[in-house]
Amino acid sequence: MNLKNTAPSSHPNEPADSSAVDAKLPASDRVRARIKASGKRFHANDNISEFIREGEVAEIQGEVEAKLREVLKSMVIDTDSDHNTHDTAKRVAKMYLNEIFRGRYVAQPSVTEFPNVEHLNELMIVGPITIRSACSHHLCPIMGRVWIGVMPNQHSNLIGLSKYARLAEWVMSRPQIQEEAVTMLANLLQEKIQPDGLALVMEADHFCMHWRGVKDMDSKMINSVMRGSFLKDPNLRREFLALVDNRKS
Ligand SMILES: [Zn+2]
Repeated sequence: MNLKNTAPSSHPNEPADSSAVDAKLPASDRVRARIKASGKRFHANDNISEFIREGEVAEIQGEVEAKLREVLKSMVIDTDSDHNTHDTAKRVAKMYLNEIFRGRYVAQPSVTEFPNVEHLNELMIVGPITIRSACSHHLCPIMGRVWIGVMPNQHSNLIGLSKYARLAEWVMSRPQIQEEAVTMLANLLQEKIQPDGLALVMEADHFCMHWRGVKDMDSKMINSVMRGSFLKDPNLRREFLALVDNRKS
């Protein structure tokens, strides 16, 4: 990690940058200042948890709620007398921070890696894993499925089946672009498992195509990432894609 802050590490409860970042600023400004000082990126699909201190997600949620209240006001919705929208700002802020965009604000789920003691070297397929995400362009839902093919070697690490779903959820619960999301998940799995080959196929409905824009109800976006032996060996790739196709319908 390339953190610029070189101050001697202080007490763990006392952030090393407490002097540099004004405690009176809103939490989002404090977090942004820390990220900028580190030189890191904070795009919609980046995880920024390492810059967030305890209690700050709740503070940010309060900021978002106040601003959403203003959005509803600007849309000339009477949130005072309309009991349906009275708590909408609060509900949406909670949903953004704690559910659909949670993958930006919490650390990567812990995943235990096991050595490949049996020296498994057969194609392994995990899926379909249900994907729930939102597009970065409209914040519209993206609902889909992902299949993961792994070709381990004797030095690969293995991870438990449920962990694939947890890592996928962590990456997908951010505003995303499908192609970038699949690549991000592939990079994460590559780093954890170190397989000879890795293949991902994602098929998803983009709601920005359904309830706005062209209102096309049938279009699905499918994209894939192939690495290592899946790129080099057409037979392996065919075997993976055929197995995925069989399970699709
Ligand atoms: Zn969109």
